[in-house]
Amino acid sequence: MIFIQIKKEISTKLVALKRLHRRMSINHPKYIDVKRDLYNAKAGHGGEEYIDSVLSSIYFPIPHIFHNIRFLEKNIPSTQTDILVFTSAYALIIEVNNWSGKTTFQDIGQILQKNEHVESIDCPTIHADYFRDNLQDWFSKHDLHLPVHRVVIFPYASTINYCSENGDIHFAKELLAIVQKLNKLPIQLSEARFITYSKKISHANHPYASHSICQQYKIMPSDLLKGIFCTKCDGPLVKESNRIYVCAHCLHIPDNPFYDVMVDWFTLIGNQISNRQLRFLSGIDTSYIVGYFMKKSQFPHSGMNKGTIYHVNQQEQQNFILQGKKQHHNKQKS
Ligand SMILES: [Zn+2]
Repeated sequence: MIFIQIKKEISTKLVALKRLHRRMSINHPKYIDVKRDLYNAKAGHGGEEYIDSVLSSIYFPIPHIFHNIRFLEKNIPSTQTDILVFTSAYALIIEVNNWSGKTTFQDIGQILQKNEHVESIDCPTIHADYFRDNLQDWFSKHDLHLPVHRVVIFPYASTINYCSENGDIHFAKELLAIVQKLNKLPIQLSEARFITYSKKISHANHPYASHSICQQYKIMPSDLLKGIFCTKCDGPLVKESNRIYVCAHCLHIPDNPFYDVMVDWFTLIGNQISNRQLRFLSGIDTSYIVGYFMKKSQFPHSGMNKGTIYHVNQQEQQNFILQGKKQHHNKQKS
């Protein structure tokens, strides 16, 4: 038996939202939207982890489990799935919903979610049907004849207030029975073809959103809170000397306090930053100090002196969003 599982990554949206939330004033008109979306992204992430633990207890003939796959294909609408179970007999789209507060199903394909305010959201079964149809089209286009199923899962029963008769919503504990039934379907692909198509799906994944999160929310860089934040506790860093900044909460002294501000810029705004822009976001208006730490960051750069621009490519930008870790870069010629 071959068992391949793509390592689960925290969604780019969740990490970007955390960074955006940290840099927003509670008085900003978009603050409530960002706070709500962050809340839902966190809940969704927790729900997916729970579903993962259920999936790992199920026997599959040859499964390949993908997380947060986003297909982009000409003439097929963009399709993003929370979890895609790909086997040699079928594909299963699992849409995970972990909304908090009271969730009430309406008859007209809409849901009321009650947190701090009441909101109406399209029923997730509508999205799941749409994704299933798109994925089926993608399979056909690539000469893959495999049935595509979909299931909408609420990990925790407490989130549901009332479920309409044909809501077609399931709880995590039902997943075992659903998958066991699907596992009785006849095998369609040889092991070699299964592996070929698994790779094809991996390569078709386009996780990167083309607009920065600030563009998505129509938030101007000038709206963001200025400052340098502690990577350990999110507290504000206080300048002790030109080269030393200390966290006001946990007393952490980072090696390069401006590194994380640069990552904030790359995550929230765009893939290149100048000395002036870093001074703007960090709130430290001393050009040579900012320049010193920019150079120390070892991000790729071009240009000279005050005109030096530091930049990351799309893949690096993606890595920062996902990992939020310091990475080593090869210096490029100025
Ligand atoms: Zn701290």
